[in-house]
Amino acid sequence: MFENVLKGKTAVVTGSNSGIGLGIARELAKAGADVVLNSYTDDEADHKLAEEIAAEYGVTARYVQADMSKGAQCRALIEKAGACDILVNNAGIQHVAPIPEFPEGKWDAIIAINMSSAFHTTAAALPMMRKAGWGRVINIASAHGLTASPFKSAYVAAKHGVVGLTKVTALETAEEPITANAICPGYVLTPLVESQIPDTMKEYDMSREDVIKNVMLKRQPSKEFATVEQMGGTAIFLCTDAAAQITGTTISVDGGWTAL
Ligand code: NAD
Repeated sequence: MFENVLKGKTAVVTGSNSGIGLGIARELAKAGADVVLNSYTDDEADHKLAEEIAAEYGVTARYVQADMSKGAQCRALIEKAGACDILVNNAGIQHVAPIPEFPEGKWDAIIAINMSSAFHTTAAALPMMRKAGWGRVINIASAHGLTASPFKSAYVAAKHGVVGLTKVTALETAEEPITANAICPGYVLTPLVESQIPDTMKEYDMSREDVIKNVMLKRQPSKEFATVEQMGGTAIFLCTDAAAQITGTTISVDGGWTAL
């Protein structure tokens, strides 16, 4: 559907050696974009992912190691990319605990990786977008950027912060051919989510199907996971001319979660 619509554009996707980030990078490459993959590791497997994407879609794909918990490394990622027409801020982690017991280090790490990294990469990317005369900032927030759940204080605070940063980015670029928006996924079946299923089955003495429907997708009215391909498709749509006047807003891809 989107074949070649992004030809000539370079996309940087943070946290893209797994899950949603990797799915978005693949979809952007499928639509013709050159892609820069990233995570904090520097393994052979990371670079192999980039090689596979390049071979499969006939685009340039590179893997650049950078730790999104460090501001200077966030900015260095964009510099090393050399071009950044499409910036997808996706890197994220989670920790679940009541506020009094929430480890201070986990709070700091979640705020840094899930929120502050988007500030640093955006600061480094906007001058490049301005020079190129076109740009798209796409922040992967969450349904938790719009609503809350108990025990996810840092995650919910960071994701609400990302939505706020998205609005400011949009206002500062409003008169330019640059847009900034946040995609708010509901539950997506990534390796991270998949790995939680066996423990939850044990904890509640439930079947896999019951854990998915009655625990994980309890708040997702469609009772279906969203997919990484749907996140990629939404990101591509935000890059098309049809979305040129969509800026400073959120797009929920959450099976109705935030309609409740
Ligand atoms: P994931 O664990 O599969 O992916 C997270 C990515 O971030 C990985 O590539 C990981 O290597 C990277 N990362 C972690 N720490 C990093 C660091 N310090 N520096 C650079 N990269 C780092 O999880 P996912 O489910 O694909 O999540 C991706 C994004 O989507 C996150 O921001 C998450 O909050 C958001 N999200 C996920 C869901 C879901 O249900 N899976 C729902 C809403 C929002």
